[in-house]
Amino acid sequence: MEKFDLQSLLRPHLRGLKPYSSARDEYTGSEGIFLDANENSLGSATSDNYNRYPDPYQKVLKEKLGSIKQVSPANIFFGNGSDEPIDLLYRAFCEPGTDNVILLPPTYGMYEVSANIHNISIKKVNLTPDYQIDVVAVKASIDARTKIIWICSPNNPTGNLVSDEAIHELLGSFGGLVVVDEAYIDFANKSSWAQRLDQYPNLVVLQTFSKAWGMAGIRLGIAYTSEAIISILNKIKSPYNISQLTQSVALEALKNRAKVGNMVTEIVAMRNQMARDMAQLPNVLKVHPSDANFILVKFTNANEIFEYLLDRKIIIRNRSSVVLCEGSLRITIGTSSENEALLSALNDFLSK
Ligand SMILES: *Cc1c(COP(=O)(O)O)cnc(C)c1O
Repeated sequence: MEKFDLQSLLRPHLRGLKPYSSARDEYTGSEGIFLDANENSLGSATSDNYNRYPDPYQKVLKEKLGSIKQVSPANIFFGNGSDEPIDLLYRAFCEPGTDNVILLPPTYGMYEVSANIHNISIKKVNLTPDYQIDVVAVKASIDARTKIIWICSPNNPTGNLVSDEAIHELLGSFGGLVVVDEAYIDFANKSSWAQRLDQYPNLVVLQTFSKAWGMAGIRLGIAYTSEAIISILNKIKSPYNISQLTQSVALEALKNRAKVGNMVTEIVAMRNQMARDMAQLPNVLKVHPSDANFILVKFTNANEIFEYLLDRKIIIRNRSSVVLCEGSLRITIGTSSENEALLSALNDFLSK
């Protein structure tokens, strides 16, 4: 697939789909006597009222986020976590048993799980030893049934940004979708690919409220992409996919950007300190450079360290069986006292 053509990329049975039309689609005014949606007009079981169905397209939230991110509200799609846009992209574009996608291991596990759920085959092209894209190998593995290339930058679990040149090259040469998952972009010193939607009709950028915003509990993921792709996602999503609770709390969050900025600054400083401290430990072979809120560290004895920390109720992620992460553990940056507890446990281990 070389030339990008959205209609031919879309699964054939969805080309003429007529979506569910909800009561809130058919009348969008906010004033009136609402007897159209079989809600409970008297109120809610709770003292706060949630008796009305929420805005299916989250208009207010898109306007607020759009003005903060300098992206048109028309280029924003919200999902129940990033998991939902990931799932919807498979549903929209990948024909089960026929189409394939390209993954770049080591990377985030959901792209593969979601492919498996949808019976989509996967081509894996490992990152290079310094965790960059092997563009030549990726291009060589594209075939006529390849629909999506999944890129994660900063990458999980390695923590590094992927080079802009590589992403640019794939966007320009591949006729399918290129997804750039920027879940950790706020911890990196880098502008978002969402600023370049005008240039690339095949670009989808994912972000989330789960990391820098500190809102993992409300489940709110974002896809920035063309209006044409957003209209496809809107057609196939469940009608009220973002609850009123989530929309209201997200609006509150957007008012507290200064707090988020301060948390990011603090986390980045602690990450850099943690990287320096880890590098001093005699059983550490490598601290991978990180642009995220975690670091990947290669130990001489990763499994032993992992178990030792677990015994002390310090839980980190063992990535030592993941390709190109042999012997490595992924450590999320905690509060300063949590980080101290981790370092002191590692020192206790070394002196036992
Ligand atoms: C944490 C993470 C997400 C966020 O997922 P949500 O479903 O929005 O919580 C997305 N992508 C990557 C690579 C992540 O590590």
